[in-house]
Amino acid sequence: MNIEQLKNTIRNVPNFPKPGIQFKDITTLLMEQDAFSYCIDIFYHEFKDENIDAVVGIESRGFIFAAPLALKLGCRFVLARKPGKLPSATLAEEYDLEYGTDAIEMHTDSINVGDRVLIIDDLLATGGTAKGTGNIVKKLEGEIVSYGFLIVLDDLNGRDALKPGQVFTILEY
Ligand code: AMP
Repeated sequence: MNIEQLKNTIRNVPNFPKPGIQFKDITTLLMEQDAFSYCIDIFYHEFKDENIDAVVGIESRGFIFAAPLALKLGCRFVLARKPGKLPSATLAEEYDLEYGTDAIEMHTDSINVGDRVLIIDDLLATGGTAKGTGNIVKKLEGEIVSYGFLIVLDDLNGRDALKPGQVFTILEY
């Protein structure tokens, strides 16, 4: 498996979920074991020497990559979820969408002061979701080592939204 072959496992679906959006469908990647494990290996090699204490996965496709990565790194797996899904005490952050706002939540006991944290999602678009998640980690006094994405859509300037945070991505469009 190489990067070009990996890219070819992702299905582009035009005009989903609304006109003008080029949806990057990773379900086709996940059905190919070589491609899926190649992604986890790339993330692992990037972060194995960073003494990560917690990998935060962003609902829902972030979970898919964050959980096996946390196991491989030998650290905690933490969930960042849409509002109202986490049962215990939470902190929430609102972020802007194209129209309106959305929010993301984490359990307050999921990050300890000084934890070295890696935040993972499948795709970086405007950066709103990842930035909201990062803000919760900062409020819980975790240290964000990096944000990690399988895919970045360069035109949407998500990297700028996450500055000065470090951003690692496997594929760029
Ligand atoms: P954003 O907050 O704008 O960076 O959006 C990122 C979130 O929306 C991620 O959780 C992605 O899964 C999803 N997303 C945004 N744009 C796309 C796209 N073109 N294809 C697939 N997923 C997307």
